Amino acid sequence: MRGIVLLGAPGAGKGTISQCVLANSNLTHLSTGDILRHGVKTGSKFGRAAEGYMKQGQLVPDDIILELVESELDDVSRDTTFLFDGFPRTPPQVKGLDAAMDHHGGSVTHVFYLDTPREILISRLSGRRLCKQCGAGYHLTNIPPKKPGICDACGGQLYQRPDDSEETIIKRLDVYKAQTESLIAIYDLRGLLLRINSNQDPGKAANEILTMMAS
Ligand code: AMP
Repeated sequence: MRGIVLLGAPGAGKGTISQCVLANSNLTHLSTGDILRHGVKTGSKFGRAAEGYMKQGQLVPDDIILELVESELDDVSRDTTFLFDGFPRTPPQVKGLDAAMDHHGGSVTHVFYLDTPREILISRLSGRRLCKQCGAGYHLTNIPPKKPGICDACGGQLYQRPDDSEETIIKRLDVYKAQTESLIAIYDLRGLLLRINSNQDPGKAANEILTMMAS
């Protein structure tokens, strides 16, 4: 088992760039945010435990996240390469991921850090809209749908994530700075960190990632 980590602030483009990487590789996507949002919708054990923290833009406690990730790593083949998106987010999660990979005979081999200026993060998050039906992502000005409020792909209704409100965006960026930013130095010291400019076409950023993974 192998792990590739996408590291970056909320709004850095982790989700969009992941989709481009996945379309051109056989990696297995593991987004803790996506799994938790689905869990909130369906009322799963993890969703119920996480909902309050997510609404407030706070991190879900490490023990819950690590239990969730460990359950996702079980029962997959040993030659799986995971693309971790939005995980790990704290130093204890880094340790938990190491232990989990070790348990499955693998390790984290690359960490891609999506470097993005704060003004761009705020503008991306506040304009972000998602399709209720298929999950496709849009942006009011950067990637507008053909018909306002309607998904081009499936005709579903677009909505704004509750944690993309202005107040919660600022909170999430502060939480990132306080709890996640230190991961850049942790992985840099290990020689695993590769910087990607996320202020470019997501397809180009994904190509850079795929090229670096292959070399
Ligand atoms: P995301 O979609 O990655 O921005 O995650 C949305 C929200 O889910 C975050 O603001 C947190 O409340 C929660 N979350 C997702 N991943 C994690 C994680 N690795 N650790 C703690 N909380 C998380």
